[in-house]
Amino acid sequence: MKILVTGGAGYIGSHACKALAAAGMEPVVYDNLSRGNRWAVKWGPLEVGDIGDEKRLRAVLEQHQPAAVIHFAAFAYVGESVEDPNLYYQNNVCGSAALLRTITQWKPIPVVFSSTCATYGVPDQVPIPENHPQRPINPYGFTKLVVEHILADADHAYGLRSVSLRYFNAAGGDPENEIGEAHDPETHLIPLVLAAARDGTAVTVFGDDYDTKDGTCVRDYIHVADLADAHVRALKYLLAGGATTAMNLANAHGYSVKEVIETAERVCGAPIKVKIAPRRPGDPAALIGSADRARELLGWVPQRGALDVQLTDAWNWMRKNTANQLVTEHGYQLMNTILRIGAWPKAANSARQVVNHQIHYRPLNRHLRLRSRQGQCTFKNASW
Ligand code: UDP
Repeated sequence: MKILVTGGAGYIGSHACKALAAAGMEPVVYDNLSRGNRWAVKWGPLEVGDIGDEKRLRAVLEQHQPAAVIHFAAFAYVGESVEDPNLYYQNNVCGSAALLRTITQWKPIPVVFSSTCATYGVPDQVPIPENHPQRPINPYGFTKLVVEHILADADHAYGLRSVSLRYFNAAGGDPENEIGEAHDPETHLIPLVLAAARDGTAVTVFGDDYDTKDGTCVRDYIHVADLADAHVRALKYLLAGGATTAMNLANAHGYSVKEVIETAERVCGAPIKVKIAPRRPGDPAALIGSADRARELLGWVPQRGALDVQLTDAWNWMRKNTANQLVTEHGYQLMNTILRIGAWPKAANSARQVVNHQIHYRPLNRHLRLRSRQGQCTFKNASW
């Protein structure tokens, strides 16, 4: 059975693809690779396309005849959504509306939707139950809430059933270390803390004057493999005729930013330098979720809730990633350009003109590292 996975080249999407394959289903990844990584697509075909491209989507649906869709494709940075809301309304809202229109016009196959606890805004109570009012305080959360509404209306009008999964803070990496987190740029706390442990740089703590146990923000970190498992369960629930619903994916336990840093010091065996900075706009003090509904309806019980387990998996991936020098999609394209052009030092100069981005380059021993606004890549053992 084929499942269309939009955004399947991303962090949570790629882990869900692995879980789908383990459950005997074939994930067909539909991703425009603007933020996903080609190397993360390992368990089925990759169809490169945009969720807003209805013609392309229709062709992919006709070709693969999926039994259901898991919709991850979206931009997901709170800060960026505050700075450039147009980007978020266009991609997350207009793109999702186009995707759902195409699906309903083709066949109303069930949809598992990647939603977020950011739809709740500042909570009146923690752990947050699903019937808590949804009052997002940033455009990112609002765009996800709009899609939840589109889905509810699509069920009413067209019989399109869906499960919206409201994730709390995704963390960790594949326990078998085949895939892991690789955002570009990286803004999430855990990878930044681990990178600080690895590189001896400082991690910035956004605010230590919150009304929490130690003054820093508290988040409910949920392992990406547990999230992936919940997607497979939600899919099975819908394929068995389950009704449209929304549910939290959380551990019902929160850790502060300081606790994350202290645990990372133990896991990585290295001290981590800390810099205290002002609060980040759009950050509620504490977000902790109740996952009662997922347990009741899906039988979902997180297996990797302990922070040190999450950090260990993320750390293992970071070390492997560094060793293998995985390249971002942008780096991959840059590399192809450079290979077309030829000789190395000249290539870096030419690439500056050809790609039309500001590219910094520096030789690192025998490696060449290129960095632009969109990403960086390293070529091992480059000779010039
Ligand atoms: N955070 C921080 N320093 C960083 C990145 C994040 O102090 O460099 C804090 C952030 O303010 C929030 C928590 O860590 O309270 C988790 O942030 P993240 O961006 O990982 O996830 P979010 O909660 O925004 O989904």
